[in-house]
Amino acid sequence: MAELDRVERWAEALIRLHLDDTWSFGFDRAVKRAGLTDFTARRITVSKHLAARWDDDEVHQTLLHEVAHAMVGPGEGHGRRWLRTARELGYVGGRTHQGEIAAERAGWVGRCPGGHEHVRFRAPRGRYACRPCSKGAPQAVEVRWERRAA
Ligand SMILES: [Zn+2]
Ligand SMILES: [Zn+2]
Repeated sequence: MAELDRVERWAEALIRLHLDDTWSFGFDRAVKRAGLTDFTARRITVSKHLAARWDDDEVHQTLLHEVAHAMVGPGEGHGRRWLRTARELGYVGGRTHQGEIAAERAGWVGRCPGGHEHVRFRAPRGRYACRPCSKGAPQAVEVRWERRAA
């Protein structure tokens, strides 16, 4: 689970590094998508709802995805220039269209007995306990990972 003030600091650092001070960052209340680049307002937003539930890695990847959009401009979509820029920033996820659900960006989907949502952009290493399921359980309840079909 990512802390929102930390997410804000990363976002501002990325904007300083790759964009300019006409760009700003904020949180939005979306529940079905992770991030958004608004070229008119020159503003990158990340869902507060998802940022609070996701691990740092996922939130960071979402920021890289959006910063790459801001860098290449509105006409590029998820084309080759966008993808190349995103990869240079360290984005490891796939292409999606804005409006697709956030989890569709991630390459790995996890299942636990409690049916909680788990997504990872990178191949999960080692054991990964589902926090809600493991709370109060005699031992950690493991998440089982599957590669999402491309
Ligand atoms: Zn996108
Ligand atoms: Zn669970």
